[in-house]
Amino acid sequence: MQFLYSGDYTSAMSLARSVLRWFDTQQSAPVECSNQSHSVDLARVIPFIVLHLSCLAVLWVGVSATAVAVCVLSYLLRMFAITAFYHRYFAHRAFKTSRALQFLFALVGASATQRGPLWWAAHHRRHHKHSDQQGDPHSPRKGLFWSHMGWFLSRAHFATEWKQIPDLARYPELRWLDRFDIVVPVLYATALFGLGSVLDTVAPGLNTSGWQLLVWGYLVSTVVLIHATLTINSLAHRFGRRRYSTRDDSRNNLWLALLTLGEGWHNNHHHFPGAARQGFFWWEIDVSYAVLKAMSWLGLVWDLKPVPQGVRERRQIRVQG
Ligand SMILES: [Zn+2]
Ligand SMILES: [Zn+2]
Repeated sequence: MQFLYSGDYTSAMSLARSVLRWFDTQQSAPVECSNQSHSVDLARVIPFIVLHLSCLAVLWVGVSATAVAVCVLSYLLRMFAITAFYHRYFAHRAFKTSRALQFLFALVGASATQRGPLWWAAHHRRHHKHSDQQGDPHSPRKGLFWSHMGWFLSRAHFATEWKQIPDLARYPELRWLDRFDIVVPVLYATALFGLGSVLDTVAPGLNTSGWQLLVWGYLVSTVVLIHATLTINSLAHRFGRRRYSTRDDSRNNLWLALLTLGEGWHNNHHHFPGAARQGFFWWEIDVSYAVLKAMSWLGLVWDLKPVPQGVRERRQIRVQG
């Protein structure tokens, strides 16, 4: 009996810690990799499941042109923050910007509900160090589901790997965003609810409401955004064309590039990850790079790292004629 009680106590504590991690991610020590650590932490991922189920609320709130427009804009703004800043800036340092803009886009990126900028960048740097080899957090060689979602739902990849990001960890504002990564998504969802409520009162012709903008602008938009981002870890290592003989399975895929504002040129990116652009040729549409270029003309970002001509031509896979 005594054993049973102590077992109950241990599982209750473990459940409490998992729930606490919804609010404060530092309630966890890094987990050593083991088979068990690769299992899904169910208590921790409840919010992720609820996020998906709550999209069913579209059946109650209905739809309007305003709601769809806000949903699309919310997707585009946050996808830009993820691809241009979480990925190209924080993970790869592919350009420079001011500390204020660094924080602003860390905030917008955090509203995408893909954890904090430090967690994101640290895992991504590990991905490039070990792409599709032992140590890669999300290689499709371990299964497509693992590469898409399994990896970040597991205990092994919950904590931020600080040793990957010493250059970013020195900013207290970024550490705060990373630790309390639920705060910005909650504020963003609340702001959309507020916007819808105001529009409902001052512009009834727009036919929207607080609940409708919360559901379309945050819930639906966020779920699509998360899965679109994840396709780069899963599908872009499986489907598409390989231009460069990189040591991984990365592919170039136009459809994924359109969906993710330029990230689909993933084989290009693995060939030369340090560049601000991922479409290496003019016909490879890379919306995030075009926006970064426009921002550089305004002096908001600078030192966009180019792809040297020699690098662009090197190690191309020649099609035999
Ligand atoms: Zn990759
Ligand atoms: Zn990358």
